[in-house]
Amino acid sequence: MGPIIDQVETSKKLPEITDIAIIGGGIIGVATAMFLAERGHRVALFEKGHISGEQSSRNWGWCRQTGRDSRELDLIRESTHLWESMNERTGKETGFRSTGVYYLGESEDKAEGYEIWAKIAREHGLDAQVLSSKEAQAVATGTTHSILSALTTKGDGRAEPQKAVPAMAAKAISDGALIFENCAVRGIEQTNGHVSSIITEKGVVQCQAVVIAGGAWSRLICSQLGLRLPQLKVRSSVFRTNPIDAAIETALYFKDFALRKRLDGGFTVAAEGGGDVDIVPDSFAFFKEFFPALASEWRTIRLRIGKRFFDELLYWRNRPLDQVSIYEKMRTLDPNPDIARNLKAMKQLQQAFPAFQHAVIAQQWAGYIDTMPDVIPVISPVEHIGGLIIATGFSGHGFGIGPAAGHLIADMVTGDKPLVDPSAFRFSRFQDKSKLVIEKWG
Ligand SMILES: Cc1cc2nc3c(=O)[nH]c(=O)nc-3n(C[C@H](O)[C@H](O)[C@H](O)COP(=O)(O)OP(=O)(O)OC[C@H]3O[C@@H](n4cnc5c(N)ncnc54)[C@H](O)[C@@H]3O)c2cc1C
Repeated sequence: MGPIIDQVETSKKLPEITDIAIIGGGIIGVATAMFLAERGHRVALFEKGHISGEQSSRNWGWCRQTGRDSRELDLIRESTHLWESMNERTGKETGFRSTGVYYLGESEDKAEGYEIWAKIAREHGLDAQVLSSKEAQAVATGTTHSILSALTTKGDGRAEPQKAVPAMAAKAISDGALIFENCAVRGIEQTNGHVSSIITEKGVVQCQAVVIAGGAWSRLICSQLGLRLPQLKVRSSVFRTNPIDAAIETALYFKDFALRKRLDGGFTVAAEGGGDVDIVPDSFAFFKEFFPALASEWRTIRLRIGKRFFDELLYWRNRPLDQVSIYEKMRTLDPNPDIARNLKAMKQLQQAFPAFQHAVIAQQWAGYIDTMPDVIPVISPVEHIGGLIIATGFSGHGFGIGPAAGHLIADMVTGDKPLVDPSAFRFSRFQDKSKLVIEKWG
């Protein structure tokens, strides 16, 4: 079971027509709906399960600029500004606090990597700082380790995933957006090369634009249109502790684990890096594109083969649109957490920070991260299908970047000046055989 999410009062009666249909009620779809509704557009969002039921409520809650891929820096800089006023914008508690995110380094090599990234970040207008050992040690209050340096960026913060997306959804609704839960979209129809309607389990809705923000399902949604989206899923496990006074207000990334202070006084904790990659039929279909990413992460990821291979082979297929789809059969992706990995992270945390000696694991969960071969998202129109926008593959970074991504997607739909240059996120990079670059620093 995933974490408990704030509830939103959603719509019941399907419209016959809308201007913009959004598939997916994670942070990307919801933020897009919020900005479109704010600008007065007629928008309807369809979620097969519950708002924020998948990745968007299961993440660490880091809103970090620090350590980002250089192609995402302009977008995350804008997102940080949007997070700062998100409580005010939504009139609700999203949990956002500019408390900082710190990468802690125990070796000289780390400091060198931090300097390289900080230089790039400053060129994008970010206030990135590499801290001295004394400053870094002070950030890691109470640690038993010697910290030689730390990397941080002014404005970084933390938010509450279980509150933030429902708050944005409520704001979108109050501005006129229609949001439907338990309403899977089975497919998209086109007329003369332009999207014309979506087929949901509850009926057909005509529309002029469709945004695919289906997270880990986007690859399947795209395939119904004959579009090849190279996307795989990585299982990532998390736990939260009971409230504890550890005198740490920030989010910290240490060599073995990552942690974030929660509004309820506990901490969300995860083992450092990686995750589990299930070998599924798509692993073979996309092997060539993903090989460089797998090779660079092989130390921290675990490849597994099991039931999922056959599930995806047999059930994860598009069916005729008048038949029950897999989206209805699987309302919420709710993978089991890796308990051994979580326990190990807890032990390492307790060794590094004795203040956690008496902390207990209050809840554990996992989520499937939708990842792309070059580990940056697709936020893009599709050349030969008018009115279609794909916004997916946030590769483990989409919560922090979500508000600006929603703004950018809304700009694309309406033809407004884009918030940032979106060219790095174009879908065509997979078709035109552009070299897919994976950035590594530190
Ligand atoms: C364990 C973990 C930790 C993470 N930590 C961080 C972090 O600290 N900071 C950060 O920035 N990012 C983090 N991420 C990544 C972040 O959570 C995601 O990038 C982000 O939530 C993606 O949002 P989304 O809206 O694209 O996808 P999702 O939140 O997955 O939403 C997609 C939605 O689409 C719905 N859907 C799919 N198909 C259909 C259909 N056919 N019809 C109707 N609805 C459909 C699904 O039900 C789902 O609710 C983490 C992710 C995980 C799993």
